[in-house]
Amino acid sequence: MRILITAGPTREYLDQVRFLSNASSGKMGYALAQAALAAGHTVVLVSGPTALAPPPGCNFHAVETTDEMYETCLTLVSKCDGVIGTAAVCDYRPRERFSGKIAKTGKPLFVELVETPDILAELGRRKADGLPWIVGFALEADNARENARRKLAAKHCDAIVLNHPQAIGSDANRVELIDQSGAPVATWEAEKTEIARNIIAWIDANLGPCRLGAP
Ligand code: C5P
Repeated sequence: MRILITAGPTREYLDQVRFLSNASSGKMGYALAQAALAAGHTVVLVSGPTALAPPPGCNFHAVETTDEMYETCLTLVSKCDGVIGTAAVCDYRPRERFSGKIAKTGKPLFVELVETPDILAELGRRKADGLPWIVGFALEADNARENARRKLAAKHCDAIVLNHPQAIGSDANRVELIDQSGAPVATWEAEKTEIARNIIAWIDANLGPCRLGAP
């Protein structure tokens, strides 16, 4: 299969040098890219800025802002057989990007934030146009399962991988995979590289063209 993976954080600039972002390392997304390549898939990796080297052999697209990630994914998705959204996308961006560097004035500075596009939700809508499957991630602190289930439905995902704030930056992770029925069907606590192999194996068995019971 040809799998589109989003990874890393996005950045939203306030002026020429300052941005809003988050602490995502990109490790989970890059581990998934590596595991998918090792399983014989073609990987299109669309990534925000990280300190990681793209896995050799993937089709790599570096982006910075949410809008860039959105446009890049929408261009690439039509040739893909499935999507995994691991990117920690900024939900808001400053309404205005100032040119140059904002100088101090001695007074408070108010910044208006507007919502960014939801990339996974938009890609999920592509299922109506023939995108075979889409898997999302949810990083939840409270009401974790309930929130993950809500996102699974809202973003038209076939499965969602629930993880927790401790996952950020860490080499290890504890995840629960929730399938379209809303039931947790697997729990893995391991290095992100091993979890990635498990997720790709689950996708191959349950969403791929060779899934059991497929016509
Ligand atoms: O941020 P949130 O918890 O809604 O993220 C859930 C899923 O949606 C993740 O897979 C994330 O990559 C994706 N997402 C996205 N675009 C956004 C927000 C989240 O693709 N603007």
